[in-house]
Amino acid sequence: MHLAMASANAYIHGSGVLRQAGEWLQKYGKNLFIIGGRTAWSKASVLLVPSFLEHGLGYEVASFQGESSYEEVERLQSLAPKEIDLVMGVGGGKALDASKTVAARLKKPFVAVPTVAGTCSCVTHISVMYTPQGVFVDYINHPQNSLLTLVDTAIIADSPANYMLSGIGDTLAKWYEGIVCARGHEDHVPTKLGLAAAKVCLDTLVQYSSQALKDMEKKDPSYAVQQITDAIFIASGAVGGFGMETTRACAAHGVHDGLTVVEETHAMLHGIKVAYGILALMHIDGQPLEEIEHLKAFYRNIGLPTSLAELGVDRKLTDEELERVAQLALSPTSFMRFMPYSVSSAMITEAIRKTE
Ligand SMILES: [Zn+2]
Repeated sequence: MHLAMASANAYIHGSGVLRQAGEWLQKYGKNLFIIGGRTAWSKASVLLVPSFLEHGLGYEVASFQGESSYEEVERLQSLAPKEIDLVMGVGGGKALDASKTVAARLKKPFVAVPTVAGTCSCVTHISVMYTPQGVFVDYINHPQNSLLTLVDTAIIADSPANYMLSGIGDTLAKWYEGIVCARGHEDHVPTKLGLAAAKVCLDTLVQYSSQALKDMEKKDPSYAVQQITDAIFIASGAVGGFGMETTRACAAHGVHDGLTVVEETHAMLHGIKVAYGILALMHIDGQPLEEIEHLKAFYRNIGLPTSLAELGVDRKLTDEELERVAQLALSPTSFMRFMPYSVSSAMITEAIRKTE
């Protein structure tokens, strides 16, 4: 049995699209319960509210407190007004994940308004849940994708470029992890679709990342910013959305998880650490050195890390530390389980040594 849930029901992108949000929203409902991060809502509301008023939409806003936890979901759910048709999340991945869970609990359709290009949360039916302290708990698979995703490229271009760099690292992994995870399933149509989407991610990132990051510094919602945003959102979401378990994250995310035992890496954004994990994955998988060097040249060009030093670890890890990284990467909940063969701790420590 294979389930595919590949995309948001409707995905609308463009510079300034939030000014027309009401036009779209009124097709689906009258009353909105909005959950937004403080910064995100202060930026988006300037564009959204006039459009709500113009189209006669009612709305109430609850402020997201920063963590996608079950406790936060309970709190937000208790703030929901009685009469609502839609739940709208405004913000980064965590704000969207938490508000998506609120929507699912209230059995209302979800509208996503991403304000940074860091993850594909705005198009998927998955929420990642953490403790209030930010430790990973589990994933929730919701029975619906977003009803509507509104991507205003001008808002994205106004966010810190580092989030986009992290989104680029995480989206690059869709290809490098996807092709390894998919081994043995290549003849399966949903897997092929997932890999085709992963190839779109790769090609778009290689072509436009450098320009998009430059444009982000100027807050310019350029063509390149649009391309990269779409790669991080709709192309990235389609990889797992079509392929599910056959095109999942695997060793790059596994190594990322393992690296959480190294204190110094905590300040780095998720996708930036995943990018390092991709290099380790290629060594675990025994891929040709010239391909690894080729990818490293791309990293250097756009500012992704090629060593632990660039992740803030300016010392050599001891053998014991490397062993602890490997053990955590091999824990039963780690994405390492999606590798098509069994990976040993020696393979992981050796891969990190080679990467270094
Ligand atoms: Zn990731």
